[in-house]
Amino acid sequence: MSAPAPIAPGSSGWNFDHSYARLPAMLHEHLEPTPVKEPRMVVFNHALAQSLGLDAAALENQPAIFAGNQLPDGSSPLAQAYAGHQYGHFTGLGDGRAILLGEQLTPTGERYDVQLKGSGPTPFSRRGDGRAALGPMLREYIISEAMFALGIPTTRSLAVVTTGEKVFRQESLPGAVLTRIAASHIRVGTFEWAAAHGDRVALQALADYTLRRHYPELASAEAPHLALLEAVMERQARLIAQWQCVGFIHGVMNTDNVALSGETIDYGPCAFMDAFDPATVFSSIDRQGRYAYGNQPQIAQWNLARLAEALLPLLHADEKQAVQIANTAIESFKTTFERHWLSGMQAKLGLFTEEADDRALVESLLVWMQEQKADFTNAFRSLSNDGKTMLYDDPAFTTWHAQWQARLKRQPQSADEVQQRMRAHSPAVIPRNHKVEEALSAAVERGDLSVMQRLLEVLAKPYDASEVQPDYSAPSGLAPGAYQTFCGT
Ligand code: AMP
Ligand code: MG
Repeated sequence: MSAPAPIAPGSSGWNFDHSYARLPAMLHEHLEPTPVKEPRMVVFNHALAQSLGLDAAALENQPAIFAGNQLPDGSSPLAQAYAGHQYGHFTGLGDGRAILLGEQLTPTGERYDVQLKGSGPTPFSRRGDGRAALGPMLREYIISEAMFALGIPTTRSLAVVTTGEKVFRQESLPGAVLTRIAASHIRVGTFEWAAAHGDRVALQALADYTLRRHYPELASAEAPHLALLEAVMERQARLIAQWQCVGFIHGVMNTDNVALSGETIDYGPCAFMDAFDPATVFSSIDRQGRYAYGNQPQIAQWNLARLAEALLPLLHADEKQAVQIANTAIESFKTTFERHWLSGMQAKLGLFTEEADDRALVESLLVWMQEQKADFTNAFRSLSNDGKTMLYDDPAFTTWHAQWQARLKRQPQSADEVQQRMRAHSPAVIPRNHKVEEALSAAVERGDLSVMQRLLEVLAKPYDASEVQPDYSAPSGLAPGAYQTFCGT
């Protein structure tokens, strides 16, 4: 990282713009966060603050800003309007408990949304209280930062403060506000909102804005809105392939939780898979397994089809032709996803070259892992441990291993290069469910943040096994299906 740019005295480095607020009024509502009783800093992300051009040392001691009690210089808060297909059903939504303070322009010329989550009611709150509980906000902090360290596009977490107020879920819990940093909060659901209102002007403004903000190289394309759809599909395909390659299960892949930027967004009931099983689901309310690990690629395609539908009026003046164009685009998703998935899996096996049987090689390993209920993360990681690979004293594995070794010999790279490639793609640590729970209960029930801080340190270097204690890489030992995550966040 380059040396941070000098920060004007007293400014803390805030450098806001408000391009989203200049979009048509149907896309946002202007209002301020609701102040809370007693803001207290729980965790603050120094490295992220610095990369945003913020004065980390000063801001760490200003919980009032991250609670919404005091607006940072130049902010102009708003709630974004959006819709979404939730578990397949269309609903009007919007930021029911979040407020965008503005877009921070960083010293390197990037633009990031700064959003408070849990900042009080908005016109979109419906029956919700506009608030968030400490546990789920710390959970989002931990998992989003872990995803970032894994190299997976994601929103980030700048701070969590407690509010000194209680929130009521099934029980009374300490309230908190998370500061979320995102390339933007434009969702598939944002397009659905404009489309559902039949507001073609807003729809086109939003599409053109998204192109400028996230895909500027496509603005001059011959058919820019089709190019937008295709580019979003490409990023989603790559993102979901990355999820599959580390066993990440988002848990609530509704269209309002799909970001056009290609970042992972909305960490609710998400969790990492232990034993490999495509049917794995953690979310307590996902009884049909709609968002199970193995369904994530198809669901992504389904969500992108909703985006294509919303974009129809921009794809062609003739509706039939627009539908044809959209269908052709959406049909290509499977191939695009599989290309990304296979190249991710090839890397995990240390392959540099391409062979026709590579897919079969990966698939037979996965079949074996499923039969053995092998831990997904550790099984892949152990393949990179040379001599120690033969942990699996099993004839099916031995056969597979021989095929894999033969395949490795048909490429020119050295054993060292192979090992390095594997270790760069198969993490030694992921946020293990029981380690996350341990950190959260220490923080929430005992006010002890040290367990979470240590976990965050370990998760910041997921590919580096040298520092990892076995405690962080061991599976939970829970029976499959025993761990449940909850949406009531
Ligand atoms: P999520 O499940 O977090 O993606 O949220 C889905 C929708 O519910 C979004 O419109 C949220 O703003 C809204 N929502 C979630 N929790 C609350 C809450 N406590 N108060 C108001 N709105 C909420
Ligand atoms: Mg959401």
